[in-house]
Amino acid sequence: MYDEYFGQSHIMLRESVRKFIAKEIAPYVDEWEEEETFPRELYKKAGNAGFLGLGFPEEYGGSPCDIFHEVAYTEEIMRCGSVGLASSLGCNAIAVPPILAVGTKEQKQKYVPPVLAGDMIAVLGVTEPSGGSDVANLLTRAVRKGNKYIVNGSKTFITSGTRADYVTTAVRTGGPGHKGISLLIIEKGTPGFSVSKKIKKMGWLASDTGELFFEDCEVPVENLVGQENQGFYAIMLNFQKERLYLAVEAHAVAEIALEESIKYARQRNAFGRPLVGFQVTRHKLAEMATLVEASKQFDYRVAAKISNGQDAFKDVCMAKNFATTACDKVVYDAVQIHGGYGYCREYMVERLYRDSRLFSIGGGTYEIMNEIISKQMKL
Ligand SMILES: Cc1cc2nc3c(=O)[nH]c(=O)nc-3n(C[C@H](O)[C@H](O)[C@H](O)COP(=O)(O)OP(=O)(O)OC[C@H]3O[C@@H](n4cnc5c(N)ncnc54)[C@H](O)[C@@H]3O)c2cc1C
Repeated sequence: MYDEYFGQSHIMLRESVRKFIAKEIAPYVDEWEEEETFPRELYKKAGNAGFLGLGFPEEYGGSPCDIFHEVAYTEEIMRCGSVGLASSLGCNAIAVPPILAVGTKEQKQKYVPPVLAGDMIAVLGVTEPSGGSDVANLLTRAVRKGNKYIVNGSKTFITSGTRADYVTTAVRTGGPGHKGISLLIIEKGTPGFSVSKKIKKMGWLASDTGELFFEDCEVPVENLVGQENQGFYAIMLNFQKERLYLAVEAHAVAEIALEESIKYARQRNAFGRPLVGFQVTRHKLAEMATLVEASKQFDYRVAAKISNGQDAFKDVCMAKNFATTACDKVVYDAVQIHGGYGYCREYMVERLYRDSRLFSIGGGTYEIMNEIISKQMKL
């Protein structure tokens, strides 16, 4: 199935991710979720396995591949038992691309290889306490003084933000609106940069989510990524893949929830027969399977479009909204099929239900996706 997208090399990648999960994550993941963290060394192990470099250029320590290797990796890593852990481990995938797209050679050499090797953690800082959807009106201000930018403001909800080595940070260097935004690389330890809090969340427990604070933070001008006041375009470029991968994460989580539900419905008895003996359960499972299948097919088509260099701006937003809505319904029904056990931490579907709630919020909300789709429809 899906032979038109996945070949032998994708199957081999899937196997190596599964082995990595079995050895390095599965035995500990429940403990890490309870502790609300995971060991930093996991980045190094994932780097050594080549996972952090997937899709990045070889000269900076990456392993170039096609888009379906990245899709296959994303689907498989969702099987680690914690969407938060998988997302934290993958935070480089949104922090590094702007540097590679518009950064200088020196920035690429200094900031990319250590991240792909798992020696450094890079994160993307766009969202602010005052709002995340309206990126064009962000408030964090950077004023140039000699060979430094003086940064004042804050960022919130930053994945892996509490232990990041640097933040690819969106700041306002110019006037109002999207034409006044630049990107700065702000390193941990820069005077005036602090982590103001680790945020307590509904799900993604193993992932640290930070609120960051900049007070007269002095950033060298050579850390400007791309041209001054052109940062918005680099952020938008990033969103295309981030949204596709959120859609893929959603269909992968829905598929796991479906598998768990089938297993449970086969072995759990009620009124003297297994749950699959009730037509209502079978139909629920049939609907869940249909939603999973439709999301996968759509996400793969959109990935193929991007891979062929076709415009998929609208499609990516549609795929994200479709897959995340489908996932919401599937995880809801998965908990329902599990009854009271579905509400308990020992059962995988309980975590999937909490973790997946973020899919229609992060990387652009459901409403913002619809806004983009409707604009593209030129109504
Ligand atoms: C666990 C987690 C991890 C995250 N990781 C990162 C990260 O690594 N880096 C980063 O920069 N950000 C990150 N985010 C932030 C995320 O991208 C934002 O939460 C998201 O973009 C929404 O912004 P907001 O929370 O400020 O909501 P708001 O923008 O305040 O929106 C609130 C509500 O209003 C709606 N709304 C807003 N504008 C409109 C409109 N024009 N029309 C209709 N409805 C509208 C929204 O859809 C939403 O329902 C993360 C968030 C979480 C919770």
